Amino acid sequence: MASPAAHREDTAPAPGPPLMEVTDLVKHFPITRGLLRRTVGHVRAVDGVSFTIGAGETVGLVGESGSGKSTVARLVLRLLDPTSGSVKFDGQEIAALSQRELTPLRRNMQIVFQDPVSSFDPRMTICSVITEPLEAQGISSGQQARDRAAELLDLVGLSSRDLDKYPHQFSGGQAQRIGIARALATNPRLLVCDEAVSALDVSVQAQVLNLLRKLQVELGLSYLFIAHDLNVVRYISDRICVMYLGRVVEQGPADAVMTDPKHPYTRTLAGAIAADPRTGGGTRRVVVRGEMPSPSNPPPGCPFHPRCPQAFDRCSTEVPAPLPAGEGGRTASCHLLDITAVNGKAVGR
Ligand code: SF4
Repeated sequence: MASPAAHREDTAPAPGPPLMEVTDLVKHFPITRGLLRRTVGHVRAVDGVSFTIGAGETVGLVGESGSGKSTVARLVLRLLDPTSGSVKFDGQEIAALSQRELTPLRRNMQIVFQDPVSSFDPRMTICSVITEPLEAQGISSGQQARDRAAELLDLVGLSSRDLDKYPHQFSGGQAQRIGIARALATNPRLLVCDEAVSALDVSVQAQVLNLLRKLQVELGLSYLFIAHDLNVVRYISDRICVMYLGRVVEQGPADAVMTDPKHPYTRTLAGAIAADPRTGGGTRRVVVRGEMPSPSNPPPGCPFHPRCPQAFDRCSTEVPAPLPAGEGGRTASCHLLDITAVNGKAVGR
């Protein structure tokens, strides 16, 4: 992969007004027991997440497994219904739309999954895989759809000679290119990439990331790019949101968040990158001590306090609010940024 330091400015268009605006998004899954399926608790998978994605912008959503990233992906696409909160696409509230009302919007928002092959029907040709959304949306069919599929294969670096092949005939990287072609079939404005390169070798990851950047410039796409690997997210993102236990704990311009993280959790993730041999940082070491608590029983106060090396009394009782943490709309949810937090001493800024 190319150096993360040399990333966005060379290719990305300037961020514009928000294409997507997510405000205080919540998803709690009920835990039921017994024959009557009585609700005995909730899994707080997403717990008040807010961020925006500008036109032509890439927002990276990063965090450990179980932090709620993939649930956010499904909520913003309305593949899941939120418990509460707002999701606006191009100014239109979509959180409360019926599935029928959502249909015309779906062509504008598509998803690329981690494992495209398992989402393809092995009996379908690549042509059918790519044209399926065109036919489902009533956009085109027959030869017109096949021509569009050929055009899309060319766009993602494959050949129209591949149209009549089957998914098992492709490598992981090629299959992901097909997944991207399928996602682009309806001419979307927003692509949600959910761990889209996580299953690929590092060299293939770089090729797919570079393809995504090229497509963004050519097609003016916006991306919500979700991954657990901060190195990958940094490479492609204009801005980064760091998630922990269903909340965004820090967000801001990618370089600023990476080079000067304000939240102790981001610092541990960024430290792991500095120590990653792929980035020339030497031996990789343990990322964060301990396990992430269960979202069905989150700790009181700051959700990170049981693992935080800088925790103090207030952290176990009071949830930190997002506080300004620098230029470019940076925020971080940590009491250390509150100058009155620790015995009246100014710390953390
Ligand atoms: Fe650590 Fe306290 Fe900040 Fe949470 S609020 S990240 S526990 S210092």
